[in-house]
Amino acid sequence: MKKIIVSTLLFVISLLAILSYRAATLYHDLQVEPAAGITEIGIDEESALQHFSDALNIPTISHDDRSNFDAEAFTDFHAFLQTAYPLTHQNASLSVVNDYSLVYHLRGADPSLEPVLFMSHMDVVPVEDITADEWTYPAFDGVVADGTIWGRGTLDVKFGVISLMEAMELLLSENARPQRDIYFAFGHDEEVGGSDGAAKIAEYFADQGIRFDFVLDEGGAVTEGLINTVERPVAVVGVSEKGYVNIALTVEAPGGHSSAPPDQTGLGILSRAIVRVEDNPFPAHLAHINQNFEFIGAHTSFVTRLFMGNQWLFSPLIKKMLLAEPGTAASLRTTTAATMVSGSPKANILPTRAKAIINFRILTGETVETVKQRVVELVDDERVLVSAEYGNNPSETSPVDTRGFGLIAATIRGMDEDIVVAPYMLQGGTDAKYFYAVSDNVYRFLMFRATAKTLKYAHGIDEQVPVADYLQAIRFYYHLIRQSMAA
Ligand SMILES: [Zn+2]
Repeated sequence: MKKIIVSTLLFVISLLAILSYRAATLYHDLQVEPAAGITEIGIDEESALQHFSDALNIPTISHDDRSNFDAEAFTDFHAFLQTAYPLTHQNASLSVVNDYSLVYHLRGADPSLEPVLFMSHMDVVPVEDITADEWTYPAFDGVVADGTIWGRGTLDVKFGVISLMEAMELLLSENARPQRDIYFAFGHDEEVGGSDGAAKIAEYFADQGIRFDFVLDEGGAVTEGLINTVERPVAVVGVSEKGYVNIALTVEAPGGHSSAPPDQTGLGILSRAIVRVEDNPFPAHLAHINQNFEFIGAHTSFVTRLFMGNQWLFSPLIKKMLLAEPGTAASLRTTTAATMVSGSPKANILPTRAKAIINFRILTGETVETVKQRVVELVDDERVLVSAEYGNNPSETSPVDTRGFGLIAATIRGMDEDIVVAPYMLQGGTDAKYFYAVSDNVYRFLMFRATAKTLKYAHGIDEQVPVADYLQAIRFYYHLIRQSMAA
């Protein structure tokens, strides 16, 4: 008996020792040194705010129905940029791609250096008529009040377009002389998928054989209180994004009057298929969470590291915890969301055609085709036709041991050393996905503070950005562009 107790005790002690050793040694501090020379810069705040406000006045709305496209709003926006940023227009060449997207090119002294591309998009989502009254200030008035800039597009993402242009204009006013070529690209239809804007811009570059040292688009932000294992602010920089596909399930049936129905109508067959797909979620993987944790791990508690550092033992538990929350579950797997269904147009007529749409957000490692194949197998019913209606594969994952990622991280930390920088995978889509054809190093980050509160403003009522964040974004781009220009 005594022997058993002793050996159990020894086992527990050595297990604890292994767990603790891994927790203590596995996660090194991967934070880069803050960039040197990040100083205050001479922003003319009044003029910078006026420009942002003017940009918000122009309703560059993307509609799902592309026939509602408002060409004049976009040409007005182009004209506004021309007036507001004269030095950029004198020094950089401007190309209009597919009529409404813009590419600025500032030439560097050394053509042997690969250029750097900064991206944003000019379009915004619409304001629904029924919510227009709920806005504190009208959505397109560009009001600046109480230290805040209000309006549709403040956050997503005229914030990026205008901050970039302000930074460039300031650099040129100081006679900055680039060694390396710098490009800006602003798409005009990101909010409806980017196929007319960003996709065409990427082709425009590919046709000329241009490859970029790195590309920076919107995506990540400086999160505060969103990653609950770290007390310090965490700047998440997107290195990949999920794919997207709408899978249609369709059942054709004879129809007829509902007074003499078969055992199962087309809608009944369809419903069973939906339930089978929903009951079998995609497998969960910790790869993306782990990549992120490599960078934040050293700044988490010992207990967190004890679990994350010993996945040989705890991965089922970690997965269970993360899957319990839809927000984190989406980082672990391809998500399944049945969103649309249609049957008969009348209560007493059997449907001749029943159709459902299931929207999947695809994790890296899977494709539109593998998702469709899995649905076919799960449904396992020849009466149900499975087809992919609209979709794109997940992006590749950009490396983090590059000059570009290092520059971005060092500049973020140069703004505030307290910030921890970490890569992550976006759950949504951005224009950046098109640019893997012209660069291996595609990143997504905006210098703004994201909290649970600010995130709900994007695409929402009372979209807004603090003036302080806007000025900080100009500083960030100023310093990042300045360093990117250097050899
Ligand atoms: Zn956006």
